[in-house]
This record gives sequence, structure tokens and C-alpha cells, in this order.
Amino acid sequence: MKAVRQIQLLTIIIAVATLVSCRQDNAREFTHYKINMSIDPEDQYIDVDCYLDIQPGNTGDTLYFYLHRQLQIGSLTVNGNKAIFLSHDTSDIRYMPDATRYALIIDQPEENPVNLHLNYSGRITEWNQWSASVIGREWTELGLYFPWYPYNPSFNPITYEVKVNHDPEYQTFMTGNEKKEEGYTIYETDSPGSDMVLCMSKELKIISREIDRYNLKIVHKTFSEKLIDSLSCDMESILSLFGQWFPQGNNSVCIVESMREVGGGYARIGGLYLSELNETDFLQSRKPFTRYLAHETAHLWWYRANTNSWEDWLNEGFAEYSALMVLRELYGPEYFNKWIESKKKSSEGTGPVWHTNRDGEEAYAILYDKAPLLLYELEGKIGGEPFKQLMRDLIINKVSTTSHFMNILEDLEGNETAEWFLNKLKS
Ligand SMILES: [Zn+2]
Repeated sequence: MKAVRQIQLLTIIIAVATLVSCRQDNAREFTHYKINMSIDPEDQYIDVDCYLDIQPGNTGDTLYFYLHRQLQIGSLTVNGNKAIFLSHDTSDIRYMPDATRYALIIDQPEENPVNLHLNYSGRITEWNQWSASVIGREWTELGLYFPWYPYNPSFNPITYEVKVNHDPEYQTFMTGNEKKEEGYTIYETDSPGSDMVLCMSKELKIISREIDRYNLKIVHKTFSEKLIDSLSCDMESILSLFGQWFPQGNNSVCIVESMREVGGGYARIGGLYLSELNETDFLQSRKPFTRYLAHETAHLWWYRANTNSWEDWLNEGFAEYSALMVLRELYGPEYFNKWIESKKKSSEGTGPVWHTNRDGEEAYAILYDKAPLLLYELEGKIGGEPFKQLMRDLIINKVSTTSHFMNILEDLEGNETAEWFLNKLKS
């Protein structure tokens, strides 16, 4: 009898566990990485065990991913079965010249999620001189420019749990919640991001401030008190405006001082990685810097469209126009109009936003100048408050395509306005 009861209990436990795990899988909206890694910056060595759950519809019958060419894959399974490699070639992505592109056969319906499990390791000693990913004794900044994890732009946005085993003499930083366990630092985030940037140095100072309902982290080595205060103050103004205009989104954002001398700065959802930033330069160009900070911060809300297609206008157009709206609030209409005029000039004679080539020469002007100008015209036509309502509805409805955008616009403003805007997109 006891044995029967135990079996019954076991069955219930298994059933509940299955339910819980199914629920977790179903609840997962984004591609998720679960990584256990060891890193030795002095030896430029990493050893990684990675589980990757790719959301359905992101692979087709061939799955591509990129990994730095000096990393050797030890084992790789797809949904528990040994992977069949189709090819490995040099990278065809401009910003990842040091990567190898792997192709795998995926033998299952496209609507099923794909789980990869791979082990890889190696010494990363070679990278392009302009690389914004580096590893070394003084400064380590590992991100998608290598990439140090199996990456494909179409997996974005992503969430992760990364367990980093490292020499305790080093401090580490990644966005997300940080937990310490013996010998390990663990980073975990459910907020969708666009990269996993691991920074490491022996002298990393991390300042954390609560602003409204947001958490701002400033990670640096050389920033002055005044620079930190000015950055925090500007971020506070930006976040409080976005907090009024938009529904609650991701709630943490970080600014990282990169100790690289080359490679420049870059932005990710929720994180800005800035190199060669000092107090004098910042204070001299504070207003244009506000636009930059506001644009990147706006991506906490504007990130859902595919960044590799023309639909990226939804991300970039709205992030840039949100930033211009911040400038209008903080510095007045005159300064705002200056930006509008300069965007008119730089987008003059460019082709339509509609189906523009994301990798084409005009892409920057079309996505960052022309698209926000169209939104400026739309705001002029429907009015400031209805425009903010439109932005809120787009965010709440998780809009990621132009056709969904058009439906929401039509619902709110009617057929005539929707047709008018569609023509704008197409001209
Ligand atoms: Zn952007």
C-alpha cells in the first residue's frame, strides 16, 4: 500500500513538474540562452557550455549561427540528437569579420522550438583592429562582435542566464540581476535584449541608482563625480518623460565606460557601451548627447521589429522620434526644429521607407532621418495626444510589423489617415 502511494505521489510530482516545465517553455516569448562559462582573461581563454532555446519560426530547415573562428566546438546536439553540419564558412556579416558561420540541418516542422546544446572553448587572440569585442588582462568586453556565443541576428530579442566562473580578483558586469555564488557570478534577465556583453576588469566601479521605477547602473573606471551626476541627471529626465508617455517596459538601463581605445561606442537594448567619454567632451556637447542617450533608451520600448529587414523602421523611426520629442520637452521647440530641418536635408531625394534595402547605402538616412520625419508629419496631422496614444497602443499590442502598425493606426484614426500615411511610407 505504501509502495502504491509512493508511486502515486511520484506520478503526481512528475505530472506537476512536467506542467511547470511546459508552462515555463510556453511562457518564454524570446530566444533564451542558458550558459555556464569559465573565463581567464589573462590567457584570453573561454570554455562555454550553452543551451539555446530558439523560438519557432526563426530557423526554417537550415539553422545558421556565428561564433568566433578560434572557438572549437566540442559537441553539439539539436533537440537532443547529434547535429548534422551542412557547412562552415567565413562570416558574411560586416560587423563580425572574425566569425565562422555554421549551418545545421533542422529536421522538424518550423512551428516547433529548436533547442541547441553545445560545448566550445578556445583562446581568442585574433580580432579585427576595430573590433568592439576584446579579451585581455586589462579589459575584457565580450559581445556579438566576436561573437563569443552562438549568435544570429534573427534570434533577437533574447533573454539569458549566464554563470561566469572567474578569478575573484576580477570584477564582472553584465546587464540583468547579479547573484554571487562560490567562484561564480550569475547574471539573469527576463527583459529582452539584443546582446550578451560581458565586461571584466580588476577595477570596475558600479554605481546603481533608482530613478522613478527604473534602475540605472553606471559602470566605469575613470568617470568623474561630475560626469556621473550629469549622466544620471540626463537619464532621469529622459526616463521620467518616457515613463509618462509609454507603458511600463524593461526597467533597467546601464551605461558602461569601455576601456578600449579603438572600436567606438555602441548601444544595445538597455545598455550603452561608450569608449573615450570624458567630462569635458560630454559637457560641451550635452544636448546632442541627450538625443543619443534618449534614442538608445527609447529602444527599451522600440525593439520588436526585425532589425534585418525594412520593418526596422518601426524600431529606429520611433526610437529617433521619441528622442526628438525629449529634446522638444527639455530644450524647447527651436532646438527640436533644428533637428527636423537637418533630417529634412539629410533625407532629401532618398527612396521610400517601404521595402527599403536594410543593407543599402540609403538605409541610414531612410531609417533614422526619413522615418522619424514621417512620424513628425503624422503627429502634426493627428495631434500630440492622439500620437502618444498611438505609440502606447503600438507598444501594448507588441507591434512588430508595418501591417500590424497600419491596423492600429486605422483603428485609432480612421481609414483616410491610414491611407495617407501608407502613401507617405511608399513615397
Ligand atoms: Zn536605434
